[in-house]
Amino acid sequence: MKCEEARELLGALHDNELEPQTRAAVLEHLQACPDCARALKELDALRSAIAKAERFVAPPELRARILRAMNNRSVGIASWRWRTTSALAASYVAVVILTGSIAYRAASVHFRDDFAVQEAVAAHVRSLLDERAVGVTSNDQHTVRPWFGGKLDFSPAVANLEPEGFPLLGARVDYVANRYLAALEYGRRNHKITVFVAPSEGERFATPRRTSRNGYNIIEWTSGDLNYRAVSDLNDQELQEFAALMQQKTGK
Ligand SMILES: [Zn+2]
Repeated sequence: MKCEEARELLGALHDNELEPQTRAAVLEHLQACPDCARALKELDALRSAIAKAERFVAPPELRARILRAMNNRSVGIASWRWRTTSALAASYVAVVILTGSIAYRAASVHFRDDFAVQEAVAAHVRSLLDERAVGVTSNDQHTVRPWFGGKLDFSPAVANLEPEGFPLLGARVDYVANRYLAALEYGRRNHKITVFVAPSEGERFATPRRTSRNGYNIIEWTSGDLNYRAVSDLNDQELQEFAALMQQKTGK
């Protein structure tokens, strides 16, 4: 089963609506695919947040405020029936607002993450296709780092990982997920690793996060005020080794 097919079925799996055979096929895919497993987890979290919100009863103070606002608009119609109806409506309005904001927040966080990762992979692939995309070709971090001066509003740390078998190939300024950032190119045998560096701007990784998209492995982490996103078709284990070294050498 392919990811696209599995994703389509996650909702039905969550709701226990799948035929046993299909269910088994999806579960088998989830075992092998951390991406889809993560998507299911996120779906679970979102749905349980919504379920909780639906059970939410407006606190008395909020209910009173909404009631007052509604009654002010209906001077003279203060019958018992009206008050009951508006009390119900007040609770309902609160539920809709809360449910909507939770769902929106969950969806937008997920979308933002996914967008940044997809964009990073796309930028990495573009750089593989276009050798001219390199801004500065150098294996010396003392050349590469100053090269960014005046081109970006931050200064990326550039580590020398040549002794560990990850030579620096060059760097460029790239535009990814709606912002300019530093793209550092490292090599490993015939593989290329692009490390995108940008200010973290509130989006911080407490621990490095590993994902994969379209056959590329991605590791994201925060070091100091900067977020790093390494993308490569290098195997996950060696990319983790690379990310660990990078963190060690650029960490403050
Ligand atoms: Zn999958």
